[in-house]
Amino acid sequence: MKTHQTYENPKDLLIDAGADQSAPVDIERIVKHLNLVVRYDMGMPDSIMSSLTIENDRYFIGINANILKSESSARFAIAHEIGHYCLHCQNCDKAFTDSKENFDEIKNFWNTIEYPVILFSYGLLMPVSLVTREGQRIIDDFKADDLNNPKISIRDFVSSMSKLFVVPNDKMRIRLTKLGIIKK
Ligand SMILES: [Zn+2]
Repeated sequence: MKTHQTYENPKDLLIDAGADQSAPVDIERIVKHLNLVVRYDMGMPDSIMSSLTIENDRYFIGINANILKSESSARFAIAHEIGHYCLHCQNCDKAFTDSKENFDEIKNFWNTIEYPVILFSYGLLMPVSLVTREGQRIIDDFKADDLNNPKISIRDFVSSMSKLFVVPNDKMRIRLTKLGIIKK
């Protein structure tokens, strides 16, 4: 067993990996920084979305390529497994498998393993500073384009933001709501 360099706060990881400057967050750069390997697996059972396993002291993130077909959903699962790696694998060789439910913040609110990982994944893919800056830019651009009707709909705003950050639309909506940028 080796001691791995991990991070309790996604912000520190973003800075160390040099991935904190622009959207979308460069998840591949973070994976490399942590010396992890991502494998897209066509043979995973439908009940599993992603996994974190260890072979010969090397950690592998497995992605269910049959189900997580969009780049945004795969990125979200990779960020989740990075969360397990950072929060749970510092001094031990643990493995994790995640069902779809494990990505749901409401269902896991009382789950002391999954909930911190979910928060970590949000902070990694949608850092507060970048979300605030890019959100403001999108609103300013919209105002400049349409001076007669200077109000973007929440739906269009969430859609623009999720495309820019390459994250699932529903996850961006939750993030923007939690940060108080949009109302429920
Ligand atoms: Zn998990």
